Amino acid sequence: MDLAPKWVGRRKEMVDYITRYLTTIRERKVTPGPEVKPGYMRELLPDSAPTDPEDWDCIFRDIEKVIMPGVVHWQSPYMHAYYPALTSWPSMLGDMLADAINNIGFTWASSPACTELEMNVMDWLCKALGLPTFFLHHHPDSTGGGILQSTVSESSLVALLAARKHRIQQLKRTDPADRDLDDSVVNSRLVAYASDQAHSSVEKAGLISLVKIRFLPPDDHFSLRGDTLKQAIQEDRRRGLVPVMLCATLGTTGVCAFDDLSELGPVCAEEGLWLHVDAAYAGSAFLCPELRGPLGGIEYADSFAFNPSKWMMVHFDCTAFWVKDKCKLQQTFSVDPVYLRHENSDQATDFMHWQIPLSRRFRSLKLWFVMRCFGLKNLQGHIRHGVEMAKLLESLVRCDPNFDMPADRHLGLVVFCLKVCGLCLCCIVL
Ligand SMILES: *Cc1c(COP(=O)(O)O)cnc(C)c1O
Repeated sequence: MDLAPKWVGRRKEMVDYITRYLTTIRERKVTPGPEVKPGYMRELLPDSAPTDPEDWDCIFRDIEKVIMPGVVHWQSPYMHAYYPALTSWPSMLGDMLADAINNIGFTWASSPACTELEMNVMDWLCKALGLPTFFLHHHPDSTGGGILQSTVSESSLVALLAARKHRIQQLKRTDPADRDLDDSVVNSRLVAYASDQAHSSVEKAGLISLVKIRFLPPDDHFSLRGDTLKQAIQEDRRRGLVPVMLCATLGTTGVCAFDDLSELGPVCAEEGLWLHVDAAYAGSAFLCPELRGPLGGIEYADSFAFNPSKWMMVHFDCTAFWVKDKCKLQQTFSVDPVYLRHENSDQATDFMHWQIPLSRRFRSLKLWFVMRCFGLKNLQGHIRHGVEMAKLLESLVRCDPNFDMPADRHLGLVVFCLKVCGLCLCCIVL
């Protein structure tokens, strides 16, 4: 059915609406009013979908009537909840193009530009963050590469599944007692580690994979240290468990603390653990060389994930995920139905083997637009500005006797307590 004639002359209306929405957003109240309660929309909508087409004007009017009253305006400069979720015009325009192309890029052949741009842009980003060359697609010594996943949560799960697969295969190859066991029996002995400050998605990855997760206490600065990990591994080995992975966090959700990679990395290497790094928020800061201190020890990482969709002016969803050995990822997620094979299957990268779903959006376009339109120089300037503003807030809070600061400031995150009630507030400055 062709609805096109109806749309002539109306196609730019939404762009104008979006422009108006974003340029006047500070006039809107950030959170919905008290009338917005669970189920509030039920009475604003008919019981079922219309049989006959509705008038566009009527649909358009309902944006303000039905949708906007229940929206939390995350892009408002007055929004200080949760964590930053920035966007920008290059990002939105890049995604508009991706929406229009609407290719499903599961294999290289299903849309070569989709895979090729992603590989190149992930290499750009890897270099821009100062990450190891073994994460690059295009490098003579590299066996790894980067891919855009939907979220850091999914990336932690992907890393755990790859670590689990590798470990189970290794055990079955090397240990005669394990050779004939079912994978699920070996799975039941596996254990993975994270700091008790790690994001809840690590616990969820454990729930899904049935791998036990042991949450370890960090030091006084909320940083997980090498000795703590070493001790836990020894205890668990004595109990007959098989340590499989550490998820280290660079920039924890609570106070933006950094686990000590330079201590944890060597322990993982000695003990044969997959080292996954969750740098969801803080990863963007590594665009600035002077903020790369916490990356010491990154050469031990097997995988690394961060969200350009938090602080790097790219809108959700966009999670950069790199793996050191792509074969370990592919052996976890490869199914190879005959209807998806193509004549370049042998040489080409088929990202469907690097992730949980089959289908994938053309996410790299928005990242490409952002990196080109701002240039690394302006992206660095944007990060530095955020950190400077956080330092300013920190100095103001420190001078005020009404407040305590229970944790150090890191990057853009300032944690402070109102003394009279002990209420703790976190503020991410941008
Ligand atoms: C925000 C955050 C996450 C969750 O990111 P998603 O992409 O929403 O899954 C995970 N870990 C840390 C440290 C975070 O700050």
